Amino acid sequence: MEKWVLAIDVGGTFTKVGLVNEEGQIIGEKVYDTGAKQPFDDFLSKLKDVIAELLRTHGKGIDVAAVGVGAPNSNMHTGEMEDPPNFNWGSRVPLAKSIEVICNLPTVIANDANAAAIGEMTYGLARGMKNFVVLTLGTGLGSGIVINGKLLTGENGMAGELGHVNVDPYGRKCNCGLTGCLENYASVTGLKRTVFELISEMREESSLKNISFNDLTGVMIAEAAHSGDPIALKAFELTGKVLGTKMADTAAHLDPEAFILAGGLGKAGDLLLNPTIASMEKNLFIAYKGKIQVKISTAPSAHAILGPAALAFHYLLDHS
Ligand SMILES: [Zn+2]
Repeated sequence: MEKWVLAIDVGGTFTKVGLVNEEGQIIGEKVYDTGAKQPFDDFLSKLKDVIAELLRTHGKGIDVAAVGVGAPNSNMHTGEMEDPPNFNWGSRVPLAKSIEVICNLPTVIANDANAAAIGEMTYGLARGMKNFVVLTLGTGLGSGIVINGKLLTGENGMAGELGHVNVDPYGRKCNCGLTGCLENYASVTGLKRTVFELISEMREESSLKNISFNDLTGVMIAEAAHSGDPIALKAFELTGKVLGTKMADTAAHLDPEAFILAGGLGKAGDLLLNPTIASMEKNLFIAYKGKIQVKISTAPSAHAILGPAALAFHYLLDHS
C-alpha cells in the first residue's frame, strides 16, 4: 500500500500541516498561527486538534506511516528545538517526543534549512545530486548541507550554520552575540541594512530614501532595482559580492555540485544571482572554477511541508 507521511513545518508565525506521499502530492494542507509567544502546551493541543481533523477528513483508506517536522533551531540528534529565537517555549523544547506521543507514529525533526535541503533532493532542484548546499535567505540565513546523499549533521546535530561564518570582524552586530556574521549581510534583513548604509553614503536620488526600516521590504528593493534605482542596484551588487565570497569558501570545504538559494531574497532572481555567481567564481580555488551550479529554488513557499515530508521518507521509511 502506498505510504503517506504527516508533514509539519513550524515557523515563527505560521505552522503548516499536511499529508504527503512519495511523489510529493499534498492533501489536506492546513495553515494556522503557531502561537510562538504562548506556552508550548498550547501549541501541542492545537496541533493535536488540527491533526485529528486532518486524519478524519483525508486519512481514511491511506497508510500514514511517519511524521516529518521542520522547525527553527531543531536538532535531529536530540529531537529538541534548542534556544529557538522568537519562541517562548523554553531553551530545550522536546518537539519530536511530544509529536510522537500525539500521533503515535515515528517522528523525525530537523531545522528548517536542513529539511529544505532534503526536500530539494527529493522533490526539487537537487534531484539526482549527492553533494550540494541549500541556503535559505530570509529574515536570517539558514543552510542545509548534503554530502554523499546524507545531511551533514555533525557531532552535536548542529553542522552547517553558514549564517554565522564571519564576513567582517569589525562589521555588523549579529543577534547571536557575534560581530560580522554572514546573515547580517546576505538575507532580506542584511539587504535592508545595506540599503540604509548606502542611503547615508550615496548622493544619488532614490525612491527608498523616505521609507522606514520596518516598512522597507525585499520586494520594494527589488522593484526599485528593476526600475534602475542606483542605491537598490548597488545594494544587490554588494549582497551578491559578500554571499559569493563565502560560497567560494564553502566550496573549498565541500566541493559541492550546486548551491541552491531559497527563501524570500531568492525572489529577486538575476538581481541576486548575477553578482553572486560573479563573486563566487572570482574567489573560487582553481579546482572548482566553472564547475558549481548556482540555482534559485522555484518551490513556492506554500510547499514548505515538502521538506519535512522528504525528511520522514528519507530517515524513517527507507526511501532513497
Ligand atoms: Zn551570528
